[in-house]
Amino acid sequence: MAKNKLDRRKFLKANSLIGVGASLALNHAPIYGFDFLNKVNQTPAILGGNPVIDHDWPSWPIWNPETDEKRLLEVMRSGVWSRRNVTLEFEKKWAETIGSKRCLALVNGTNAMITSFANLDIGWGDEVITTPYSFIASVQSILFNGAIPVFVDVDPKTFQIDPSKIEEKITKRTKAILPVHILGLPCDMDAIMKIAAKHNLKVVEDACQGWLAEYDHKKVGTFGDAGCFSFQNSKNIPIGEGGAIVSDDEAFMDRCYSYHNYGMPYGSMKSSSRPGAIMAGTKLRITEYQCAIGLAQLERLEDQTKKRSMNAEYLRSKISEVSGIMPYELYPKVTRASFHLFPFRYKSREFKDLSRDKFLEALNSEGVPCYSGYQPLNKMPFLENTFASKNFKQFYTTKQLNYSNYSEQNACPFSDVLCDEEAIWLPQYVLLGSKRDMNSIFSAIQKIYDNAEKLK
Ligand SMILES: *Cc1c(COP(=O)(O)O)cnc(C)c1O
Repeated sequence: MAKNKLDRRKFLKANSLIGVGASLALNHAPIYGFDFLNKVNQTPAILGGNPVIDHDWPSWPIWNPETDEKRLLEVMRSGVWSRRNVTLEFEKKWAETIGSKRCLALVNGTNAMITSFANLDIGWGDEVITTPYSFIASVQSILFNGAIPVFVDVDPKTFQIDPSKIEEKITKRTKAILPVHILGLPCDMDAIMKIAAKHNLKVVEDACQGWLAEYDHKKVGTFGDAGCFSFQNSKNIPIGEGGAIVSDDEAFMDRCYSYHNYGMPYGSMKSSSRPGAIMAGTKLRITEYQCAIGLAQLERLEDQTKKRSMNAEYLRSKISEVSGIMPYELYPKVTRASFHLFPFRYKSREFKDLSRDKFLEALNSEGVPCYSGYQPLNKMPFLENTFASKNFKQFYTTKQLNYSNYSEQNACPFSDVLCDEEAIWLPQYVLLGSKRDMNSIFSAIQKIYDNAEKLK
């Protein structure tokens, strides 16, 4: 069917070029099927035609009272709401699920990263290498500890940090790399871990969109010194708010636990000689009812992840047939992606210069939720304002804090093109639709392609 549609497009193009147009096309209509004659179907919804998708998408988060509420009610009725057994069970289950020795659940993904950096002794005076193409929290977690983010451009084909550009950014102040498995597509971890080992750098993985994603059959979040996850409401494991750190390093995890609980000693941090808190800490504890929700959500995760992968692969293969649509690519060693988002690049030139905004409006009108995605993190005003703050001035030289130098050194042109011109995302719940829905998304894009001139 896809092939027919494409042929039809070429056919119409050819015919209008030689000026025979409709009459010849109509003579051939039967072999192209009914759709072709149905003018209403061919009119973009934004211009008054029928939307390709006329049903609602699954609402998010998913909650099934029958299966999900028993545990939650038990917790509520017990009155034990601060962390205890349900939290321990959730932590054990998440550690087992992704293949890590330890897991600490806490308030959110942002603080999972803040806690990880703080307890790997990364902060004032240090530099952390990361991607400009991410959610704001990735960079806030670096700045919050007093370190300076150093941006490495992305490979636009994969949307991920480009490992071949990391080494040129390493200085004597570089202490860590924060790879972000953004959109749920794993980073090139072999290359990143090799660079980290060579330069003796810590690695904190921002796996806040990477639940169950794998590189070489190993779950993301388990490569670095720490792996951080988010369970915020929009995420593939939605709890409202929530996060986790995973690691095999027992001493590090004991420090993280202490830090997240007012610096009170935990595990190997305990000493019999002196009672009381042993480090500067804060309070970031998750609750029992959050973990009860998390346990319910975990039950669905494997099946949902399978479904997203299957639909993503299929949709990817369909829409790559449309010129001007360039779906994400995965690194060869990626064995699974979590597809928090389904990304593709849009080349407006192939769509008769129809702007990305107009394309998005048209696609949304066809019933396909879609977005243009992130703004470049390396260009946001929070960096300049932070550099002007009292503490930063104490720890860094005027030269290091010269914002125009910094901007120049941290320019990331490929990320800019993704943000400003090319990136398009479909949200994860779209990938929980049917195969028919995937075909409809393809038809919607095809329809926009066919009508690009009219949509301008
Ligand atoms: C959601 C997210 C975070 C932050 O997680 P919260 O739980 O919202 O604090 C960090 N990094 C990325 C890439 C995210 O998507």
